[in-house]
Amino acid sequence: MFDLIIIGAGASGLFLGANIKGKKVLILEKKDRAGIKILMSGAGRCNLTNIEDIKGFVERFNNKSFVRKCLYKFDNNKLIDYFTSRGLSTYTDKNGKVFPKSDSSKDVLKLLLSECNKNGAHINYNEKVIEINKNEKFTIKTSKGEYEAKNVVIVTGGMSYPTTGSEGDGYSLAKNLGHKIINYKPALTSVNVKDYSFTELSGISIKDSRVKIFRDTKKVMEYIGDILFTHKNISGPGVINISREILKGDVIKISIVSDYENEEVFRAKVKKDISESSKNIKNVLKGYEISERLIDKIIQLSDIDVNKKDLSKKEINRLISNLIEFEFEVTSLDGFNKAMVTSGGIDVEGVNSKTMESKIIAGLYMAGEVLDIDGETGGYNLQFAFSSAMAIAYSIRR
Ligand SMILES: Cc1cc2nc3c(=O)[nH]c(=O)nc-3n(C[C@H](O)[C@H](O)[C@H](O)COP(=O)(O)OP(=O)(O)OC[C@H]3O[C@@H](n4cnc5c(N)ncnc54)[C@H](O)[C@@H]3O)c2cc1C
Repeated sequence: MFDLIIIGAGASGLFLGANIKGKKVLILEKKDRAGIKILMSGAGRCNLTNIEDIKGFVERFNNKSFVRKCLYKFDNNKLIDYFTSRGLSTYTDKNGKVFPKSDSSKDVLKLLLSECNKNGAHINYNEKVIEINKNEKFTIKTSKGEYEAKNVVIVTGGMSYPTTGSEGDGYSLAKNLGHKIINYKPALTSVNVKDYSFTELSGISIKDSRVKIFRDTKKVMEYIGDILFTHKNISGPGVINISREILKGDVIKISIVSDYENEEVFRAKVKKDISESSKNIKNVLKGYEISERLIDKIIQLSDIDVNKKDLSKKEINRLISNLIEFEFEVTSLDGFNKAMVTSGGIDVEGVNSKTMESKIIAGLYMAGEVLDIDGETGGYNLQFAFSSAMAIAYSIRR
C-alpha cells in the first residue's frame, strides 16, 4: 500500500514527488517519458515564473480567489530560491519572465527528476490510470494492474497539446468520484482572421498595442499587449492572453502604433504631423517607431500612394483609422493542438484552496492545469502548477 499515488509526471506531479519526503510514493505516467510539456515550455527555454509582485500575479488568473492562498504560501521568490539553491541559476528578461540561466528546459526536468529520485518517489512509465475507487482506501486501476493507496493526486494536466499526454483523462477520473467539470476549451491561442494580409510580415511585432474586441458592434473588451504577426494569424500576448474571451465573428481592432494616452490627442497629432511635414508619408510615420515593413503595408492597405505629398482629408483619416484601429474579423481560434493551456476543468468549488484536497472525498487531491485554473502567458501557469503541488506537499507532510 502506498502513502501517495500521483497520477501524471508533469510539472505538478514531479514537483510534488520532489517535495515529499519519508513517504511511500508512486508516480504513474502514461507516456514513456516524464515532463514532456516542461520540455516544450517557453520554446524549450522554460519560462518558470514571473517576478511580478505576488498581488499582481494573482490577478493574471481566472479564479483569483482560489489561486491566492497557494501562490502567497509558495510564491515566485520561493520558487526561484528552490531552483537556485539546488544549483539551477535563473535570469529575468525585460518583461519579468524568469528562465533557467542555461536557457534549457532540460535542466529543469533533470533537477525535478533527480529530486524525486532522492526522495524515493518511483515513476512507472507507460502506465495509464483508468479508474480510481475509494472505500477504506483508494484502489487505482491502470493499463497494467491495480494499486492501493492512502492518498491519490490527480495531476493529469488539461487538454492542450494532447500528444504530450494531457488528453483530459483527469476530468473523467474526477467526475467518476463526484466532481463537477467546468466546460473546457482551448486558451492562450493565436487568432485566425478573414483575409489575413500580413503573411509576409511574419515575425514583426507591435509593442503595447491597444487591442479592442467588438461583438455585434459593441465593444466587449480592451487590452494592452504586444502583437506578433505570424505567417498565418495574429499572435503575441496582446491577443493570446484574451483569447479565452474571443469568439468567431468578433471584430478585433489593434493599434499599429504602440499605446497612446488619448485617442483624440493622438489623432490630432498625426494629422498635424502629416499636413505640416514636407516629408512623404512613409518618413512621417517612421517617427512613430513602427517597423518600416509594417509602415509600407499599412500605407498600401490604406490605398495611399507612398510618394504623394499632399494627401486628401479622406486619405489622412483612412490612414489614421488604420493606425489606431486596424480591423480584422475573427474566423476561428487555434484548437487544443496549438493552445498553450486549457480553460475550464475540475470545478474549484469542490476543492480546498489551501490544501488542494477534494471537499467530496478525503485523501483525494488535485493540482495544476486539470483544475479550472488558467493564467496568462509569462510563467504564470507553471508557477501555479508548482505552487498548487506544494500546497499538497505541505498538507501531506503534516
Ligand atoms: C507549447 C507550450 C508552451 C508552454 N510554455 C509555458 C511557459 O513557458 N511557462 C508557463 O508557465 N507555462 C507554459 N505552458 C503551460 C504549462 O506547461 C502547463 O500549464 C503545465 O505544464 C501544467 O502542468 P500539469 O502538471 O498540470 O500538467 P502537464 O505538465 O500537462 O502534465 C500532465 C501529465 O499527466 C500525464 N497523464 C495524463 N493522463 C494520465 C493518465 N490517465 N495516467 C497517467 N498519466 C497521465 C501526462 O502524460 C503528463 O505527463 C506551456 C504550454 C505549452 C503547451
